[in-house]
Amino acid sequence: MEDTFRRQINYLRIAITDRCNLRCRYCMPATGVTLKSHQEILRLEEIVTLARVAGDAGISRIRLTGGEPLVRKNMVTLVRELASLSAIKELSLTTNGIFLSGLARPLKDAGLSRVNISLDTLRKDRYRYITRRGNINSVWQGIRAALAVGLAPVKLNVVITRGFNDDEVLDFARLAREEPLHIRFIELMPIGAAAATVTDYVAVEEIKSRVSSVYPLEPLPDLVTNGPAVNFKIAGGRGSIGFISAMSSHFCHRCNRLRLTADGKLRPCLYWDGEIDIKGPLRSGASSAELAAIFARAVALKPAEHHMETGWRQPRVMSQIGG
Ligand code: SAM
Ligand code: SF4
Repeated sequence: MEDTFRRQINYLRIAITDRCNLRCRYCMPATGVTLKSHQEILRLEEIVTLARVAGDAGISRIRLTGGEPLVRKNMVTLVRELASLSAIKELSLTTNGIFLSGLARPLKDAGLSRVNISLDTLRKDRYRYITRRGNINSVWQGIRAALAVGLAPVKLNVVITRGFNDDEVLDFARLAREEPLHIRFIELMPIGAAAATVTDYVAVEEIKSRVSSVYPLEPLPDLVTNGPAVNFKIAGGRGSIGFISAMSSHFCHRCNRLRLTADGKLRPCLYWDGEIDIKGPLRSGASSAELAAIFARAVALKPAEHHMETGWRQPRVMSQIGG
């Protein structure tokens, strides 16, 4: 599918739940967010139907996210069904990794291609602080399990917040040198709880210059399929380092994605208020052609770029949109 700005849209991120077992400080308030009722959330078979229609319309890559996708019951079955759709060439997952150690093998066997694991700090006490409850050892067991079963490349999502973990940038770079792990430094975005603390964001240029002052970085080919990250190899290293600059410099010109929220809305852009209901038509019996037309409408509505700097604030939090 091609949008108005000649971008090829072939990637769908599906939030399969708005629930989460953690409460990351920049993502959610301590009390969590108001959850949708079970009725409002897409059923697994509805997700598969929409993915099939999307695949027929030109989507070839799907990422499951949330909330925390691994808290959704029967998600291994969902992965198996999505992976069996002939149009879907890559099926990936973004997770906090807490429940991954027991699920990595079944997910791999069900057809999951690879995994991104969110880990903002390498220190146990800081991990507990930022997630308000998580145990970093569980995440490491998940990372080891993902590597062991070959859910590769294993990427680690690291949101850098000034005064919290900006002193760990070189520790993460060392990790990318020593292990086959792909670190992606992400700028904090003014979404969810972070909307109030956006001055804490650290521009990726600053992170990059700190890393490259110690570890020479070699650019990796700029694959559009790699999404918004600009990637580098550390000379002699086993992994890589990527930078996602949502705030300081737009990657919108190469955006290739649509989002489907857990409650069945198609979102043309992460940071823009347009969204189109697809669950209603699905539940009232719309045909595949009618559903495909809704995907096409969402693509046509994609704005040229997001609206982060305009002062407009996204009312949904990341766990509801599927970050
Ligand atoms: N629960 C899963 C996880 O944490 O990986 C998947 C959903 S989470 C919303 C997806 C990603 O969004 C995580 O890597 C998280 O760090 C990131 N995220 C959440 N709020 C953010 C914000 N305000 N700015 C930048 N990234 C954010
Ligand atoms: Fe949950 Fe992911 Fe948000 Fe953390 S970032 S609270 S793990 S949805």
